[in-house]
Amino acid sequence: MKIVCIGLNYHDHAKELNLPLPATPLFFLKPETSLFNAKNPFVLPAFTKQPEYELELVLRISKHCKNVTVNYARECFDTASLGIDVTARDLQFEAMKKGLPWEIAKAFDNAAPVGKFLPVEDFKDINNIEIRLEKNGETVQKGNTSGLIFNFEEIISYVSKFITLQPGDLIFTGTPKGVGKMEKGDTLTGYADNIKLLELKVL
Ligand code: MG
Repeated sequence: MKIVCIGLNYHDHAKELNLPLPATPLFFLKPETSLFNAKNPFVLPAFTKQPEYELELVLRISKHCKNVTVNYARECFDTASLGIDVTARDLQFEAMKKGLPWEIAKAFDNAAPVGKFLPVEDFKDINNIEIRLEKNGETVQKGNTSGLIFNFEEIISYVSKFITLQPGDLIFTGTPKGVGKMEKGDTLTGYADNIKLLELKVL
């Protein structure tokens, strides 16, 4: 399996990083070795001074998808959860400055903790899910999938032109404003429509 992550998919997050909005979905991959069950304690990697959380709505692909249209894309996923696109922000900015790929900052081991998956039908409206992250009980990120620059169908249709999506693949759909540092001792709790789907303890 693979993890496809969409970058800069909320206006307010692009603004906080001072980056221009993409004209087409911006995506990058994390390998299977990045997948991490958020039930387990997360050990901060030693190679970054600035490990950051990015709360994202995550879709699980349920069909073989190649060149799917926007209208068909809703058929391609069946469950959703929350995940954290763990980012070594210092290494990412260094790579960006040099025009280098982002893998060093995004695709390392355990860089994709995910919570509990729910059937998509359990959400009132997938295009209007409020996602929220609490750090040690305080809300630090809040967004709504209605504010996505590229919605789920547009993401899947676009990515499937280049990369075949297969059952079990995950799509991280982008993070809203409020990304910040992960520190030892933190508890990160993610809610979707006020349902707790993820709790990650940071060691
Ligand atoms: Mg992200």
